[in-house]
Amino acid sequence: MSKLNNKVALVTGGSRGIGAGIAKRLAADGANVAITYTKGADAAQAVVKEIESTGRKAIAIQADAADPAAVKAAVEKTVGTLGRLDVLVNNAGTAIPKTFEETTLEEMDRVIDINIRGVFVATQAALKHMKDGGRIIMIGSCVGERMMTPGLVPYSATKGAVKMFTQGLSREVGGRGITVNNVQPGPIDTDLNPAAGDWAEPQVAATALKRYGHVDEVAALVSFVASPEASYITGTNLTVDGGTNA
Ligand code: NDP
Repeated sequence: MSKLNNKVALVTGGSRGIGAGIAKRLAADGANVAITYTKGADAAQAVVKEIESTGRKAIAIQADAADPAAVKAAVEKTVGTLGRLDVLVNNAGTAIPKTFEETTLEEMDRVIDINIRGVFVATQAALKHMKDGGRIIMIGSCVGERMMTPGLVPYSATKGAVKMFTQGLSREVGGRGITVNNVQPGPIDTDLNPAAGDWAEPQVAATALKRYGHVDEVAALVSFVASPEASYITGTNLTVDGGTNA
């Protein structure tokens, strides 16, 4: 029996990158999985097909994390289609790298709406359905705790907010047997942060392991936190960053 058998997970932003890696790993561990996306319907369907080919159920739902009605509808559709909700992975997030003084109010609003407001909305909607053993998992960032490079000021501020949201919420829902944890990746090779990109070199230099991470290395930690084995872990910030914050 796999460790997530009979569980249902919702991964926001699960069509590409870290979210797709998490969705596939949770399914490999036995869960049925819903993912959200905004523009990449084909990529989302490819993730669904890959999961279905392993014998698990999967659905893709178009829902912009900045649109509260769409986010709430995605949670309801997950429960309506897959029957329950045990694990929410708040993965959808974005960064708009530039100096703070050049950053526009619209860009700040966009980062805040997706990275923290969207997390609030999805979590509130999910908690209505979660029972004992429920798991709320944030994908924060190592820059939510320590900052090595310029150009990510609003982004790191939202990830710092995700960190304290995690700690605060763990105190409210622990009595219901629900855990709340924040997985904080370092540089992970995705479209958002390509290992071959202009920003890559200083990020590699800041790691202890002298390399980018792979989405599977984040997914492995998320899968553990989602599992029954992690039942006494809550309110924590678990960093998977190749030693960036060491
Ligand atoms: P990518 O940009 O590679 O992938 C983002 C995923 O989220 C895609 O599936 C995308 O689908 C979806 N998405 C984007 N915007 C929205 C939105 N507004 N609403 C719903 N879904 C959305 O990002 P990563 O995989 O790199 O990042 C995932 C998370 O990990 C983010 O929270 C990020 O901050 C965090 N992180 C990433 C690090 C890295 O180095 N890569 C390091 C630390 C943290 P679509 O194209 O259809 O919109």
